[in-house]
Amino acid sequence: MSDSENGERDPATGHPRPPRREFKARGSFVTRCLGCNLPELNCLCPYQVKADSIAQVWLLTHSIEHFKPTNTGRLIGDVLTQTRVFTWYRTAPDEELAVLLEDPRYAPFVIFPDDQPDYAERVVDINAVHAVKQQARIPVFVILDGTWRQARRMFRKSPYLDTLPVLPLRTERETRYRLRKPASKAHLCTAEVAIELLRQSGDENAADVLDDYFDVFNDSYAESRYYRKIAQPTAAMQRLLDRKG
Ligand SMILES: [Zn+2]
Repeated sequence: MSDSENGERDPATGHPRPPRREFKARGSFVTRCLGCNLPELNCLCPYQVKADSIAQVWLLTHSIEHFKPTNTGRLIGDVLTQTRVFTWYRTAPDEELAVLLEDPRYAPFVIFPDDQPDYAERVVDINAVHAVKQQARIPVFVILDGTWRQARRMFRKSPYLDTLPVLPLRTERETRYRLRKPASKAHLCTAEVAIELLRQSGDENAADVLDDYFDVFNDSYAESRYYRKIAQPTAAMQRLLDRKG
């Protein structure tokens, strides 16, 4: 009996499918690249391209989120070198972050929906970001990196955020994130939030690079879950390779 007779066949192509049973502990014994933490099958490292931006992204990452390989917040720091990452603990506010939020060189905005009335007076729109650029201050998008539930908790339980202007992201974009099932297509993942904010505030080049890098991450990770190697570079891969020259 040949291997293919032994295994499943794809009904669409008739090709043998890789056996599934031994892969049920998905990801747990996959060899991961030390550089990008993705399965080595489709490593992200060849597509890492840096980009400059005027605005900065500071991530306040929930302590649980930090260790998830599907987290997209980390992609932002791979592209924008000025990105800062702080870990959120309810009982211990990050002192470095608290100091930075008071630094007059920066104009921080906390990114959060404007769906509650009790902070309505703090809500601004993207024009406020353009305005601080005119004042030669550095706009900072403080993004709460976690599930929606975690983000709400972080917003409510972080007194050092209470004085910041609240910038809701307004966009028609629907999520392209393939690694977790969103409650709604309108719920963007962390990297997508940063991409849209950068684009709207005038850092289009950085937004384009990060968008391509996000696509490569998304496709590479999703295909690796099916043990499929991406043989031909995708359009986003090719654009990033061209930028590296
Ligand atoms: Zn890698």
